[in-house]
Amino acid sequence: VARQARQQRNDGSDSAARTDAFSPINGSRASELVLEQIRDAFFTGMKPGDWLGTETELARRFGVSRLTMRDAVRTLEAYGMVDVKVGAGGGLRIAQADSKHFVEALAVQIHLLGVGPSELTEALEVIEPRATRLAAERRTDEQLERLRKCLELHTDPAENPVGFHDAAAQFHAIIAEASGNQPLYVALRAVRINEVHLLDPDALSTVNEPVFRIHERIFRAIERKSAAEAERLMASHISRLSKSLASDGRITKRRPSA
Ligand SMILES: [Zn+2]
Repeated sequence: VARQARQQRNDGSDSAARTDAFSPINGSRASELVLEQIRDAFFTGMKPGDWLGTETELARRFGVSRLTMRDAVRTLEAYGMVDVKVGAGGGLRIAQADSKHFVEALAVQIHLLGVGPSELTEALEVIEPRATRLAAERRTDEQLERLRKCLELHTDPAENPVGFHDAAAQFHAIIAEASGNQPLYVALRAVRINEVHLLDPDALSTVNEPVFRIHERIFRAIERKSAAEAERLMASHISRLSKSLASDGRITKRRPSA
């Protein structure tokens, strides 16, 4: 049966053939096994908008109770995998992609895992220089213009420290977008959301001072499409941030004691 199901999936048949492969489930892990089958069908080629069925139909197909099916559906919704419409003509469809939901869900999980400042910075040191290299190679003129405007908003940290930090964060967000690589973009945004919430705005002026200068150099490299130079500058920028995080406890908020 498993081989048959796999063959059906590999021959590029439509989503109806994929859901036809769903088979009855026995035992106590029923909800998990329903999830496994739907996930399997999803990752082997279902598309946004594909119809899965009503909750009742699916419960019948899998041979599980309505309650078990509802439990599985709730998990699929939490994954952002399905859209559930209630009432007449309602049922389950594969959801449309939503990169904002994707970023938030990943950011939430990073927080729940208790990832601290040094681990976040470690991740940035790996991901962000590479994203900056890609941004220098791929950025559009429109993205370059947005970077330029953003840069103009954070020339002076003393004038508006909080606004300065927002603009500086936005500068990094535009670079992540300009990388043109969606997994890199999502990972960077989710890590940055967590990082921002760990920083103490009152202590930020200590790191703000050199930020504009380095951002300007990164911008020039992206403007010239000097990929290696942009990558090197971002690497040294993040590594400096990482060192100030390590040496100056004031930059991060004290974590609430559990
Ligand atoms: Zn920066």
